[in-house]
Amino acid sequence: MPKHIFVTGGVVSSLGKGLTCASIGMLLERRGLRVRLQKFDPYINVDPGTMSPYQHGEVYVLDDGAETDLDLGHYERFTNAPLSRDCNFTTGKIYLSVIEKERHGDYLGRTVQVIPHVTDEIKAAVRKLAADDVDVVITEIGGTVGDIEGLPFLEAIRQFALDAGKANVMYIHLTLVPYLKAAGEAKTKPTQHSVSQLRQIGIQPDVLICRTEKPLAQDEAEKIGLFSNVEPRAVIEERDKEFSIYEVPLSLVNNRLDELIVEKFNLKAQPLEINDWRQMLQRIKSPAHDVTIAVVGKYIRHNDAYKSIYEALDHAGIALHSRVIIRKIEAEEIERDGAERVLNGIDGLLVPGGFDYRGSSGKIEAIRHARERKIPFFGICLGLQCAVIEFARNVGGLADANSTEFDPDCAHPVVCMLDEQYAITDKGGTMRLGSYPCVLVENSKAQQAYGATLIHERHRHRYEFNNAFRDQFAARGLAVTGTSPDGQLVEVIELRDHPWFLAVQCHPEFKSKPTKAHPLFRGFVQAALGRREKKSSPQRTREAVVGAS
Ligand code: GLN
Repeated sequence: MPKHIFVTGGVVSSLGKGLTCASIGMLLERRGLRVRLQKFDPYINVDPGTMSPYQHGEVYVLDDGAETDLDLGHYERFTNAPLSRDCNFTTGKIYLSVIEKERHGDYLGRTVQVIPHVTDEIKAAVRKLAADDVDVVITEIGGTVGDIEGLPFLEAIRQFALDAGKANVMYIHLTLVPYLKAAGEAKTKPTQHSVSQLRQIGIQPDVLICRTEKPLAQDEAEKIGLFSNVEPRAVIEERDKEFSIYEVPLSLVNNRLDELIVEKFNLKAQPLEINDWRQMLQRIKSPAHDVTIAVVGKYIRHNDAYKSIYEALDHAGIALHSRVIIRKIEAEEIERDGAERVLNGIDGLLVPGGFDYRGSSGKIEAIRHARERKIPFFGICLGLQCAVIEFARNVGGLADANSTEFDPDCAHPVVCMLDEQYAITDKGGTMRLGSYPCVLVENSKAQQAYGATLIHERHRHRYEFNNAFRDQFAARGLAVTGTSPDGQLVEVIELRDHPWFLAVQCHPEFKSKPTKAHPLFRGFVQAALGRREKKSSPQRTREAVVGAS
């Protein structure tokens, strides 16, 4: 029977529970254990698919098409645990299931209540992951202890220990120990309060992970342990990271968290194997080059809206011994100030996915700039669609070309709705979602980057390249280098007469890892590095000459 770790958060939100869970998962996996990860989000939306990126950040898509919380992105980047729609439940999804059962008569006329029906539903969601081939299930409870909407989840995980047996369940509470400059010391009171709230619910944490700015002194850890009824060695410091989020697992190892878990559950585990991870961190700390990539999007102000894109760029940088400096640019800034000025000095341009008309002309202008100046360009989903519009207007001679998403009645709809989308009016989960195969053209840049002709990537879109324009554009240099296996859906386009101009309908960013950069991101950043070198070499020569004289 698998063991269960429940991770809660206290004091403030945004403490990095997702990263901590991902790190714990990674450490256990690298001790030879089979791990599953799961997140509960206490909000009422059934999934984040219809939520604004300003509210929620990125919507992370899984192979099975589930639209999930971005913490699942951390789980995938840190571990090899398979993820599915059973790995993310919101209050809305739990209640939807309870209400459907009630309508179906499954409760046999009983009064349906939070306890036991909703809590049973939550526990069943946890058990869904507890298959025979799993050693440890890690369940993250979103939100902060004390939130009203989180109560049914906390009650359910309290009950879970009664059902599964105390020896099979562990509670880890992530908390904040703020450092007060004026007092010159760390303050433990908020943690004491937060643990006391948890204990009122009936949950006694086994481990406290304390987010700190400064090292946690021994006496502070002891004090926290005493007030919280937690043994001092289980009060673990997780200090702010200077370089990278990928350092989190190491600080947990330094505090022997993996040891503590293995011991508590009496698991048969191998010695920890993280040499490749350490090497990866070493590369982050000593990059040989800098390269500047502009990301032009609509939700740039929200730090998490393009989370996986930023991570995938970093991964490519790690693979290429380089630091990717990401210049985040609001598309409307280009509409206001012009591409020339805003994009000055960049080595590469990336236009990510998005929805809706706002900012589209700025993106199109940016792509034109990259095409004409031969700046490496990588378009993703809406980025591909904008590249097609740009090409149609400025190379194809169709000045009124557009996507029907932006102008339903346009004369030249070079991007239009997928046939199967016409009948659907419901907003949730109705796109082309999840993993689909794609066949690449031999010797195209995409095929060379992947080193394969059949690939699988995740999708999240309603619109696509309009096949009616394929031949006409191909004649002018826009090559379709990847399609669905039946050849019907355009998945990848490239420009022949350009150092690296490639766009995809899928979202490759979801499959990149720090230890295994995605081939397209790697190819793109490599091309940007190539441009940077070209740009800088005449100057370097001049400097050398001046230096010599
Ligand atoms: N809005 C576009 C579509 O639905 C692109 C979607 C995206 O970039 N994820 O097709």
